[in-house]
Amino acid sequence: MEINKLLCRGYQGIARVPDLSGLSQWTEEDKKMEDLIQRTAEQLIKSKHAITLTGAGISTESGIRDFRGPDGIWTKNPEAERKAYQSYARFQENPKEFWIETISSASLLGDLAKVAPNPGHVALAELEKRGLLKCVVTQNIDNLHQKAGSKRVLDYHGNISLLRCFSCDTRYDRAEYDLDRLYKEDRLPPLCRKCNGVLKSDVVYFQEAIPSDVAQASQEEAGKCDLMLICGTSAAVYPFAYLPRMARQRRQGKQTIIIEINADPTPLTEEGISDYLIQGKTGIILPKIVEEVKKRIS
Ligand SMILES: [Zn+2]
Repeated sequence: MEINKLLCRGYQGIARVPDLSGLSQWTEEDKKMEDLIQRTAEQLIKSKHAITLTGAGISTESGIRDFRGPDGIWTKNPEAERKAYQSYARFQENPKEFWIETISSASLLGDLAKVAPNPGHVALAELEKRGLLKCVVTQNIDNLHQKAGSKRVLDYHGNISLLRCFSCDTRYDRAEYDLDRLYKEDRLPPLCRKCNGVLKSDVVYFQEAIPSDVAQASQEEAGKCDLMLICGTSAAVYPFAYLPRMARQRRQGKQTIIIEINADPTPLTEEGISDYLIQGKTGIILPKIVEEVKKRIS
């Protein structure tokens, strides 16, 4: 229904991933999707500064649970959400207690160290390697873009594999600190080697500000990109949600192409912030875009 409504308004850029699993026919809609994939490949090649914004949709395809989907962590466990809202205040009140509790309880997301990137992550890394993508700004904390080989990644909500100093913002690889040992030896919280400040997870908690270096760099990227590929996110959570809207405003003066790859139409589609939506899984569509790029530049 949503799609029909949009088409009635003259919105031309929606297509679904073809269902090739059964006996489905090659429909007009499937052809349109192929056209949009080709168009994206061509626009990427022509772009001077393309960036991508990613969200939960690309991670769930690696088997990571989201927070607010039908099977989401908060949806199924409102108590955990209530607790998460208090995390930042609790950390500030007593970092030692907070660390003890964190280390002695299981992570809500499971063991993210064991999760592998999927073909969507790999395709984005490939586009960067070919010089067609300058930056990934992600809301995901799982480090999967880096695992897939992406070099310039701005972890908007932090990165689970890092620790960040509460005083001076220096980041450390989590593996540099033997947290279990510090726990056993009663030496928590971990301390910054530069300033002796308390370290917290790099992950941004509710009520916590986005680290200023990441917030600023992301704004700069959104302000200067001429193509923005939005993958697996409706960009509904602020301040991240400003980024596509900033890029949209910029285009009043200069051309910025905004392309969505999402499972369903989003407010970005409906508000006309994106030029078009390729509807389906990022793990299927992004590799197809890479294939089209390869056909055009070897
Ligand atoms: Zn420090």
